[in-house]
Amino acid sequence: MEVVVIGAGLAGVTSAWYLRQAGCKVTVIDRQPGPGLETSYANGGQISVSHPEPWANPSAPSTILRWLGRPDAPLLFRWRADAAQWKWAFQFLRECLPARTHRNTRAIASLALYSRRELQALREQTGIQYEAGQGGILHLFEKKSELKHLPAKQAQLEALGIRARVLTPGETLELEPSLAFMESRLAGALHGVDDECGNAHLFCQALSTKAAEAGVDFQFNIRLQGFDRSTEGLHGVRIRDSEGRLGMLRADACIVAAGSYSARLVAPLGLKLPVYPVKGYSITVPILAPERAPHLSLTDESRRIVCSRLGNRLRIAGTAELNGYDLRPNALRSATLLHWLDEHFPDLTDTGAAEHWCGLRPATPSNIPLIGRTSVPGLYLNTGHGSLGWTLACGSGKALADLVTGQPPEPMFPFSG
Ligand SMILES: Cc1cc2nc3c(=O)[nH]c(=O)nc-3n(C[C@H](O)[C@H](O)[C@H](O)COP(=O)(O)OP(=O)(O)OC[C@H]3O[C@@H](n4cnc5c(N)ncnc54)[C@H](O)[C@@H]3O)c2cc1C
Repeated sequence: MEVVVIGAGLAGVTSAWYLRQAGCKVTVIDRQPGPGLETSYANGGQISVSHPEPWANPSAPSTILRWLGRPDAPLLFRWRADAAQWKWAFQFLRECLPARTHRNTRAIASLALYSRRELQALREQTGIQYEAGQGGILHLFEKKSELKHLPAKQAQLEALGIRARVLTPGETLELEPSLAFMESRLAGALHGVDDECGNAHLFCQALSTKAAEAGVDFQFNIRLQGFDRSTEGLHGVRIRDSEGRLGMLRADACIVAAGSYSARLVAPLGLKLPVYPVKGYSITVPILAPERAPHLSLTDESRRIVCSRLGNRLRIAGTAELNGYDLRPNALRSATLLHWLDEHFPDLTDTGAAEHWCGLRPATPSNIPLIGRTSVPGLYLNTGHGSLGWTLACGSGKALADLVTGQPPEPMFPFSG
């Protein structure tokens, strides 16, 4: 079977790898000059299985209202004259109903657990290096009032098959001594024992090299122009290179893994995808004193900021802004991350050499990615992973390959079509 994958981010590269492993002849196109150069470039680095709860949950509406008018709010809606944005926001509110949150959490947990197992197997099989870190994620809480929910949260995670431990401040520092300076303000932590972290961009590069060695044809600086479709279904894609030359790629199946742009690409086919960009920021800073740097990945639950050690650098990421496709950086948002770093790890890093970045999370209102068939025969989706695209990458790619090749995917998940 000949397959064209549109997009070489985490979703596209993993799809291509597993499709090739399943015996397909695979071509990947991407408008960028290499893999993982858009949203998969500098994310928070967390393989965060211990955070399956979607953004849309019963407490989200009141939290968003509380943050309203604060330009540094962790989640900010910048209203635009854009029907897609308003529709997304309305659907988001609907997904905050308890029953929906419960259902969505179960689905994400099932895919996330499967995905981490597939990532571990892939690492074993290929030996790829991507600054991977194990030992779990520490979810940090600074307010005593937040602690009362932790035993219930832990029980909920355990029921989903996710190992987690509630830690006192003392136990937290024993596990991560670099947090000693915040002993007095730390109320407690939840340790996602089996979580991991790693550099998503390096992963995309390393896996695409392996995939190319296995026969996948990567075509960079190539933009999708449209789909070649008849009443029988899809026959391939129309493409344009960086010099404006047009071409055609024949395919039995096309996979749309174009991140936040997926909805726009398939709109001419009459498909309306509930995928909207949610902008986030990161800074990456060289570590000056490795012996004082954290070894575990951290999540500051009050500020919704994550911190991962990637080799000899720290990556701090967070903030979510619903502001269309605008990729211009907002200095205040980066400053919030620098401020967090200063407050938590003073003098540890060279902030003057910080690499500033922002990207567009391809988000669905429910946080449930769109993986599987569409109503157009031959057209498949692997997109809409929102804040968990790294966590869910391998499982989504493998499940997609199973669906394309007629195998039943393993996770209990509402696959499309
Ligand atoms: C600040 C931030 C922090 C994050 N932290 C985490 C985290 O800690 N853990 C986690 O699990 N997830 C995290 N995420 C989410 C994760 O990074 C994304 O879900 C994931 O990168 C999305 O991957 P993707 O392949 O769908 O999209 P992308 O990486 O954007 O890939 C899509 C590709 O499609 C290509 N493309 C688009 N249009 C066309 C076209 N017309 N023709 C050809 N090519 C096209 C683009 O060039 C791009 O390479 C974070 C995201 C952000 C923004």
